[in-house]
Amino acid sequence: MDLTIDPVAINLKVGMEIHQQLATNGKLFCSCRSKETEKYDKTFVRKLRPTQSELGSYDPAVLFESKKMRTIKYYASRTSSCLVEADEEPPHDVDGESLEIALIISLALHSDIGDELHVMRKIVIDGSNTSGFQRTILVANGGYLDVDKKRVRVQSICLEEDAAKLISDNGKIREYGLDRLGVPLVEIALEPVTCTPEEVMLIALTLGRLLRASKRVARGLGSIRQDVNISIDDGAVVEVKGVQQLDQLVKVIRYEMLRQHGLIIIAQKLTDRKAVEKEIGDRIEDVTEILAKSSSKVVINSLQENNGIFKAMRVRHFGGMMGFEPYPDIRIGKQLSELVRFYGLGGIFHSDELPGYGINVEEVQAIKNKLRIDAEMDAFVLVGGASYKVDFAIEAIIQRLKIALNGVPPETRAPTLEGKTVFSRPRPGAARMYPETDISSIPVSSSRITSLSEKVPKTMDEILNSLTNKYGLNKKLAEQIFDSNYFNIFEEIAGSMKEVRPTFIASKLTEDLISLERQGLDSAVLTDEIIIDVFKRLDNGMIAKEGVISIFEKLMKKEAKTVEEAKSALGITSISDQELEIIIEQILRENRAIIIEKQLGAVGILMGKSMVLLRGRADGHKINSMLRKKLEYFLMKDNSSAARTSTPF
Ligand SMILES: [Zn+2]
Repeated sequence: MDLTIDPVAINLKVGMEIHQQLATNGKLFCSCRSKETEKYDKTFVRKLRPTQSELGSYDPAVLFESKKMRTIKYYASRTSSCLVEADEEPPHDVDGESLEIALIISLALHSDIGDELHVMRKIVIDGSNTSGFQRTILVANGGYLDVDKKRVRVQSICLEEDAAKLISDNGKIREYGLDRLGVPLVEIALEPVTCTPEEVMLIALTLGRLLRASKRVARGLGSIRQDVNISIDDGAVVEVKGVQQLDQLVKVIRYEMLRQHGLIIIAQKLTDRKAVEKEIGDRIEDVTEILAKSSSKVVINSLQENNGIFKAMRVRHFGGMMGFEPYPDIRIGKQLSELVRFYGLGGIFHSDELPGYGINVEEVQAIKNKLRIDAEMDAFVLVGGASYKVDFAIEAIIQRLKIALNGVPPETRAPTLEGKTVFSRPRPGAARMYPETDISSIPVSSSRITSLSEKVPKTMDEILNSLTNKYGLNKKLAEQIFDSNYFNIFEEIAGSMKEVRPTFIASKLTEDLISLERQGLDSAVLTDEIIIDVFKRLDNGMIAKEGVISIFEKLMKKEAKTVEEAKSALGITSISDQELEIIIEQILRENRAIIIEKQLGAVGILMGKSMVLLRGRADGHKINSMLRKKLEYFLMKDNSSAARTSTPF
């Protein structure tokens, strides 16, 4: 099977929306600390049932959600939330620092900033905001980003508040942490471009770098999220929400290309078979009786749910097509199973996979009889669970199968860890916005824009050049340190060291730390203070070069809490110059034969032997220079005393 589809041939189009958290002290509409908390000291509960007028939609998914009276439990901490997050006090004025950053980013993207900015409310129905809406400010329109030789257009730039952090959801109670609610984000929407998945990654990387160059955005996992809109020829736009890493982005786009192309192939086959909309779900029967005594565990579990029932629907001309896979794992049956999970059901059964899962031939035949299926070409879908869920799910399946005749349904999907996507909800219509009445509009004067122009970050090329010139880093290392989470701290350390070279610092903070992370160790324990402390000790000669990563490793393994503890756990006791001298002289004496044979060429072997004894206790450079000096002296003495046949030591 050919799994390489040419993205150009199918006209792959990708639009991106990037949400970047800003590095500010306060939140967008209050002065609470803009940091995530682990410890909460207060909880409160709200009931949530959005009204029809708020939803503005008759979509079965939205209606289903609105039928559920949800209990939402919020967790709050005094340091990271106040009455504003609890929706018990109106929002304060927009945080000036956040607005300044959003304006600088808009200037960097050549975007057109409005004279007067308005705070708007966007309805959210999932409880992720205590107020029932998210506040957002359209800061600028249009603009562009140059990526290689391509110019990518910007649609809009918004400043908005982040939602509360989802802690858990058991279907009845949903729990959120308020620490993240109100954290300022900049949302940049790019126009869709025709390109390859790799080019999309490059666009995201370039935009991410431009943002980081401002030095005023948050870094680390979760501080930047991508929503991608993906479509191909003859398909609808599919939105994949919340991609966090660049390599995941490429995988997700590749998977969607295959999935969408596969769905189009299926649609063509269905058209050839003369499947039509009105024959999808034209008979729906309650088959609870037939399955009541089934030996299938899955069936019995579903029936044991509150008012558990089983319904079957006839789908004409779909026989063999439910399980048909144009590409591995891409089939209608799987799409339907993903769909019904939204309605709280575990999945579906379809006629292509039955008898199976404990459902026997007689039961299948009884279902077929009840649905009046006699042709091989006809299929059925079987759904079980609580009756109200089953009814909603049947309705959604009919709609979904009707779309299958055309190919790709417009929907919102979520990325998985393996870089695939799963259905999360039907695509909502354009969000309805209302003006925020509690905050007055914000004028942006042209003089303010002019003064902010000086703060526009340098381009990536300019930054890399300056890293090369200032610190002597090669291009690769300059890129690595810039893309890492340690760029700011690198500059701080490199600027204050006397002995330690910037190249050494950069390579420890990139390659070496990454290789420790790849072993599954957590670098989050390495605070800026710890990193600075370790390099200072190195600069003062208190630890050897080799000690830097050993100490980081001890801390990351949680085998030590402080640098001092890590040092003693490693047995690093700083060795004095005098002790070093004694040890080296000892090594020379013990290797006299090698020295006489190899003369100065013995230095490599001796260095190796020295490091075995001295690693982590003295600096390698120091050992090397002392070793050379001693060796030269040794040889000189040895040669001059050769006549008298005495030894120099
Ligand atoms: Zn607050």
